[in-house]
Amino acid sequence: MIFDYLIVGAGFSGSVLAERLASQLGARVLVVERRNHVGGNAYDHFDDAGVLVHRYGPHIFHTNSRQIFDYLSQFTGWRQYEHRVLASVDGQLLPIPINLDTVNRLYGTNFTSFELEKFFASVAEKRNPVRTSEDVVVSTVGRELYEKFFRGYTRKQWGLDPSELDASVTARIPTRTNRDDRYFGDAFQAMPLHGYSRLFERMLSHPLIHVLLNTDFREVRDVLPYRRLIYTGPIDEFFDHRLGRLPYRSLRFEFETLEQERVQPVGTVNFPNDHAYTRVTEFKHLTGQEHARTTIVYEYPQAAGDPYYPVPRKENAELYSRYEKLAADTPGVTFVGRLATYKYYNMDQCVGQALAAFKKLAEGVRRPPAGAGAFEAA
Ligand code: FAD
Ligand code: UDP
Repeated sequence: MIFDYLIVGAGFSGSVLAERLASQLGARVLVVERRNHVGGNAYDHFDDAGVLVHRYGPHIFHTNSRQIFDYLSQFTGWRQYEHRVLASVDGQLLPIPINLDTVNRLYGTNFTSFELEKFFASVAEKRNPVRTSEDVVVSTVGRELYEKFFRGYTRKQWGLDPSELDASVTARIPTRTNRDDRYFGDAFQAMPLHGYSRLFERMLSHPLIHVLLNTDFREVRDVLPYRRLIYTGPIDEFFDHRLGRLPYRSLRFEFETLEQERVQPVGTVNFPNDHAYTRVTEFKHLTGQEHARTTIVYEYPQAAGDPYYPVPRKENAELYSRYEKLAADTPGVTFVGRLATYKYYNMDQCVGQALAAFKKLAEGVRRPPAGAGAFEAA
């Protein structure tokens, strides 16, 4: 039997495409995944203590797209959850993104929102153009707040100074003059009711989808019969790094279970200036699970290891665009996802990109006349 599509990777990008191709086009799909589970980096599971944890770091779902939220709602119910983060700065735990309370508590001031706007204007440094991650922050809140909240965190997380990273990295974090202390401002913010792994199991449960775990594409590419390939792994690896290696930032996760119900006041505490780790997350805040014990995870950034983050800076974008040209000249293969398109995408953006890729693929499909048999990819 020949598969209509071979999909490399069972994360959001690969799983959404598998689900759409099977359920909407009647295509036979084989998904190969080198890990021993589906879900990609969004995978969750119960640890030895019975606490639901995210193996590859905390994943909080948020989107402004009703279409994406509705699409995923076919496979999961939701638990409303708005993430809150405190940063450990100068011996205090202060709200991040920086807001009115952050500044008033840091400086012992009593600014109103209007006064805070004037304060920011008085300390902000003009940058024209705003090009780097340093520019974004110092041109909004000035050098001192930049140094307390952003500089150390960014150097730890990326192994680079903010002045060496694109503006888009720190621009993920807004600045507020009101008291809104939510980490995300999106219209939809929720966690899958029974976790991410259950969502993936339901998404991939279609009878036309087969999943092969513990299988690296590189070992089976020449033996598996398929018509078209969808690849969601690192793009430079697909081409055997022939143009050089694209940098991906990695992390080491350290989990700890404590004999108490709760340990920190919010889901995540950031440590911009102390310790080798960037942040500590307590999963029960995110999942709402009730349990006598609690599990936290420390994130230690590192250069080597699983590829988790593309590194947004000019020279990497240039190298990626050379790989992108190679990809465009490779017929029969579609590259999608955070690793294959080298984009710092959140989960919802991966779902959106995969739905768009599906639409394009569906347009190229010649549907055979009724009863004529197999699906045919153009
Ligand atoms: P992945 O999830 O990386 O899936 C790719 C899969 O392909 C992997 O399972 C990999 O094993 C497999 N693969 C690769 N090469 C091969 C091969 N040769 N053969 C077989 N299989 C292969 N997003 C949010 O929206 N909210 C968050 O709070 C959030 N937090 C995050 C925290 C961390 C620490 C990290 C690293 C990411 C976070 N994200 C978050 C981003 C989110 O993880 C991604 O947007 C999303 O999971 C990417 O999906 P993907 O399918 O493109 O890639
Ligand atoms: N950042 C920071 N201090 C913080 C939080 C974030 O300097 O307290 C910067 C840092 O460069 C980080 C980026 O903003 O990598 C994006 O943060 P986000 O929380 O979105 O990162 P992710 O959850 O994707 O790791």
